[in-house]
Amino acid sequence: VTTPIMGIDFVNASMDSFLNRTIYPFLEEERKCFIVTANPEFVIRTRESIEFKQHVESADYVLPDGIGIINAAKISGMPLKERLSGVDVTHAMLEYAAQKGHSVFFLGAKKDSNQKAVENARKKFPGLIIAGYEHGYADITSEEFIASMVNSNPDIILVALGMERQEKWIYDNIDYFSKGIFIGVGGTLDVMSG
Ligand code: UDP
Repeated sequence: VTTPIMGIDFVNASMDSFLNRTIYPFLEEERKCFIVTANPEFVIRTRESIEFKQHVESADYVLPDGIGIINAAKISGMPLKERLSGVDVTHAMLEYAAQKGHSVFFLGAKKDSNQKAVENARKKFPGLIIAGYEHGYADITSEEFIASMVNSNPDIILVALGMERQEKWIYDNIDYFSKGIFIGVGGTLDVMSG
């Protein structure tokens, strides 16, 4: 179920139902999807950039990340059930992936942050399969890099390149992959590295 807030269709579901009815079945069925985690800045930016708007509109799910969206929804008389933040969705997905044997690719953030996030994820979610990782200042748009990433066959692709850059990266590259939950997670790898 989605609810339009300021021109964008946001997922209007509890965390539990979004994970259990959408994300986990998608993982089991090896389907592909593009998830945007949006705060009010995202919404504003879609009005300034046609390209960004197109990228956000191509996503399968736009999640209300940030209290600003929740408040705007309330004010407009179409309240959303729950805030679905990138950090929380990532945490839940990694926990599930570690239990079920799905693999994760960590893309983005500074080199140190990226490595530390991977290290911490290994500790926090024992058994988690790391398909690969690369920081966000490397050459992550080259054919060679994309080919190596496709080869690593990840089930979950965390893309932490900041607003706009991460959505563009997913938009430009998702077609090369046959499966995967692609999610733009902003500063989540920085949070995980701490
Ligand atoms: N980032 C990156 N490559 C870039 C620019 C940013 O990997 O070329 C990373 C940055 O290191 C941080 C994350 O993207 O971990 C989010 O960056 P920022 O806080 O600037 O993004 P926003 O708040 O716009 O989502």
